[in-house]
Amino acid sequence: MNMSEMSFIDWQRQFYSENACLDYLKMQRWPDGFICPKCGHRQAYQIHTRELYECCQCHKQTSVTSDTLFHGTHIPLSKWFTAIYFIGSDKGGISALRLKKLIEVNWRTARLILKKLRIAMGHRDRLYWLSGNIELDDCLVGGKQKGKRGRGAAGKTPIIVAVETQGERAGYIAMQAVNRISHQSVEQFVQAHILPNQYVRSDGLRALTIIDKTQHHEARVTPKELVDEWLPWVHIAISNLKTFIQGTFHGISKKYVQEYLNEFIYRFNRRRIEKQIPMRLLNIAIFHSPMNSC
Ligand SMILES: [Zn+2]
Repeated sequence: MNMSEMSFIDWQRQFYSENACLDYLKMQRWPDGFICPKCGHRQAYQIHTRELYECCQCHKQTSVTSDTLFHGTHIPLSKWFTAIYFIGSDKGGISALRLKKLIEVNWRTARLILKKLRIAMGHRDRLYWLSGNIELDDCLVGGKQKGKRGRGAAGKTPIIVAVETQGERAGYIAMQAVNRISHQSVEQFVQAHILPNQYVRSDGLRALTIIDKTQHHEARVTPKELVDEWLPWVHIAISNLKTFIQGTFHGISKKYVQEYLNEFIYRFNRRRIEKQIPMRLLNIAIFHSPMNSC
């Protein structure tokens, strides 16, 4: 079986029980056997349950889930693993309501699982910097009324979007929800997502002139009918984002916009290896630090 591209049947077969999930976690975290996170000692007693280990040297107790995204969870790992498959394999994104029914947990729990995984996805993609030729633009999402560009009126959230263009195809994308499109927010976005001295195209919005500071920036005011010629890929990305959000999460609250963006970006950046997404997501969860605050 190709572990990186498992079907749902394979996934269920592999992670059929709580112990099977624990074994996988153990194998990933300690491929050469137990290592104490405190003193590095390699021997431990297994206590009470299969999950808990006590270091023979310093007596620190460690569980297989500690220091992972599953740290302190009250939900069986088998539910987490199933959730990860559903979230990773659903192209349109899955709502908390649907996840709740699929893995039989309450809505708050489903929401929490989604939240943690989306935050972890965001952290993973923040390791990339865009480079080469890049298109940059902004858009508004959420809310019900039409908003005014750059300001995010009526519950809408302004988003800054950048896409690498590689001739006939798009490369990586980055998106950030901001309070407003301003010199400050654009500058922060560029610093966080684009290597210096790249070739960035945009339209003539004044807040975007700040890009000149660190990039080879070409701004062109384009009539509406020609805008897709000047910035084709960024507009495709924006239109896909709107479909994604309207399809599953219509009427999203401002508070959650960045989470949804994280998921959209994560999926977009892996669209050529989408069958690998569930397994990649599982590994992100294993190697992500705990999130107790949410
Ligand atoms: Zn120890």
